[in-house]
Amino acid sequence: MDLETWACPTCFSRLGPHEGGFRCVDGGHPFASRDGLPIFLRREDEALLLDAKAYAAAWKRDVLAPPKGSVLELPFVASPYWRPKARSLQALLEILGPARGRIVADMGAGTGWLSYRLSEAGFRCYATDIVADEDVGLGAARAYDRTGHPFERAVASLSRWPFRAGSMDIAVCNASLHYLADPRVAIAEAARVLTAAGSLLVMNDPVHSDRRSAERASSDFKDRMRAGGGSGRLVDEHRHFIAAELEADLRTKFPKVSRHDPDFGAGFRVSRALKSIVLRMELASFPVYVARR
Ligand SMILES: [Zn+2]
Repeated sequence: MDLETWACPTCFSRLGPHEGGFRCVDGGHPFASRDGLPIFLRREDEALLLDAKAYAAAWKRDVLAPPKGSVLELPFVASPYWRPKARSLQALLEILGPARGRIVADMGAGTGWLSYRLSEAGFRCYATDIVADEDVGLGAARAYDRTGHPFERAVASLSRWPFRAGSMDIAVCNASLHYLADPRVAIAEAARVLTAAGSLLVMNDPVHSDRRSAERASSDFKDRMRAGGGSGRLVDEHRHFIAAELEADLRTKFPKVSRHDPDFGAGFRVSRALKSIVLRMELASFPVYVARR
């Protein structure tokens, strides 16, 4: 564990080893490790672990979940949901350019597939997620340790990033920001942990122009998760974004915001256009946002 970079989520001070887990230097706040994963949560965020469990159980059964046993292939798996993610990854790598040893916070990392791909490209990654599940959460990331492109990871909340101030060159919220009731909390955390020249990238979040369509799409997803046994904040706070609002929220901390729309291919465009006509709603777009100071 790189204890120069990870920090106490309560007081942001340095961490040291303590009884099989960790303890912060300034406040003495203790943190346990479970199955090799440190749990860097404030006391008041610990209830989220139960929500994460319920969410993972429902998510695992969903058609959009990563196919079982596919963790080493992600995002390059034959699935209409994962194909656009593969294209988003390509767009991200083009935007970032050569790694040059840069350090990345991967927030809401799921299985850690993005950290794996970025490590492969030469970035140093620190992945966090609230879901520790062995199939769809950070527990699955153990498979990457044997690839020669390992990365550091811990259970953490999107609303409190367990990193030292100014320790990151890049922060990525990959399909995660739309699980927070107020994305500005995570955006402020990005501003705290990034260096002055650092960038926040937001990708694979569903974004609309039309509010009614955004609300309908999110409520359909929530119904599906609840039917599968999902409950708690990860389901309740889920939403689809309105582009103008997300961009305004990013600008509260990062005045320079640019939007990149990856080309997901003709097949994707045609099937989405048809579906949109049949359902009489605007379907989500999945842009990559780059936010800088
Ligand atoms: Zn502390």
